Amino acid sequence: IPSSRITSISPSGKDGWEVHVAAMTRRNAGEDIVVLSVGDHDFHTPAETVEACVRAVREGRHHYTNLAGIPRLRAAMARLSTRSSGIETPAGQVIATPGGQAALYAAVQATLDAGSHAVVVAPYYATYPGTFRAAGAEFTVVETRAADGFQPDAGAIEAAVRPNTRAILINTPNNPTGAVYTRAALEGIADLCRRHDLWLLSDEVYWTLGACEHLSPRALPGMAERTIVINSMSKSHGMTGWRIGWLTAPEQLVGLLTGFNLVSTYGLPDFISHATAEAMENDYGVAEIAARYAGRRTVFLDAIRGANQIQVRGSEGGMYVMLDISAIEPDDEAFAWAFLESEKVSVMPGSSFGESAAGHIRISLCKPEPVLQEAAARLLRFISTYR
Ligand code: PLP
Repeated sequence: IPSSRITSISPSGKDGWEVHVAAMTRRNAGEDIVVLSVGDHDFHTPAETVEACVRAVREGRHHYTNLAGIPRLRAAMARLSTRSSGIETPAGQVIATPGGQAALYAAVQATLDAGSHAVVVAPYYATYPGTFRAAGAEFTVVETRAADGFQPDAGAIEAAVRPNTRAILINTPNNPTGAVYTRAALEGIADLCRRHDLWLLSDEVYWTLGACEHLSPRALPGMAERTIVINSMSKSHGMTGWRIGWLTAPEQLVGLLTGFNLVSTYGLPDFISHATAEAMENDYGVAEIAARYAGRRTVFLDAIRGANQIQVRGSEGGMYVMLDISAIEPDDEAFAWAFLESEKVSVMPGSSFGESAAGHIRISLCKPEPVLQEAAARLLRFISTYR
């Protein structure tokens, strides 16, 4: 019999991806469906990064690597952590992982015992609950308010803290809302982490895709020693399929996580480590990708500006736009199904991401501007004739 830990990860039942799955099935059967329900880039990894990888393979980078990452890679990661937080970060405070998800998994394993508790701010990325369950940890979801632009409220988070709470998990820029947490919101969370002696797990995989300069809570007073930043090459450098990310954490925890890598990944692929280090050292693709998403966001939001039944919430960064469609149809799932049916555009119902995003739809910006313009035109037509 499988362990209860493994069976708990994905409880069976409705998971909120039904509209997306139906859209993909229809598209794979040849129908012309515009899929705006998923978050992977529509473009390839920058050619320079691909070349670096091919070169690394040819140079014989085929061997086991250091458990925490090859020194060149850790040095490059530390430089990016320094840049994203503004805090001088030595290589001893970073550790490479196979993607942001593995970084998140390692962060949860490193801070939560079975039976201990975490608080997670909603709306949140779909894998968070399973990642806590895989550690046997309990968690409480704290909702945000759409009317506040999905900004977290430290008072609401604090009300969920229990004697066995060890960590708070946040994500900014946020998936699914695109909200970029304000300094005031982050200061409130930092304050309660210090007072209750909690870890802050800060998922910053979209840090290069915000509309303004990134603010990492690790930079706030007294937070470097209690923050674990989850980072990734997937979104910033266009490398989703390469599976490479990293954690920034106090040096002692990084030492312990090196032991964790020993028993989990046994280090990362050699050639990918070298190619990634080169991509980091030269910022391959970073500015272009950020500009592309900023342009797409502007184009899409401009295209729907006339529709006053739709409110834009959050949507300041990341790869998504969140629209409040509750004035047209409070049941976001019914809206998403009907939109797919009549206009052949798939979007995610907001309620798939928790209560706070109910009455919303999430639009992924992972399509070129003309496609987004066409999708916006179809959305306007759809709402003008709805019911
Ligand atoms: N965190 C957030 C908020 C995400 O949206 C994603 C991917 O979509 C991840 C983490 C994991 O990314 P990866 O494992 O590709 O680095």
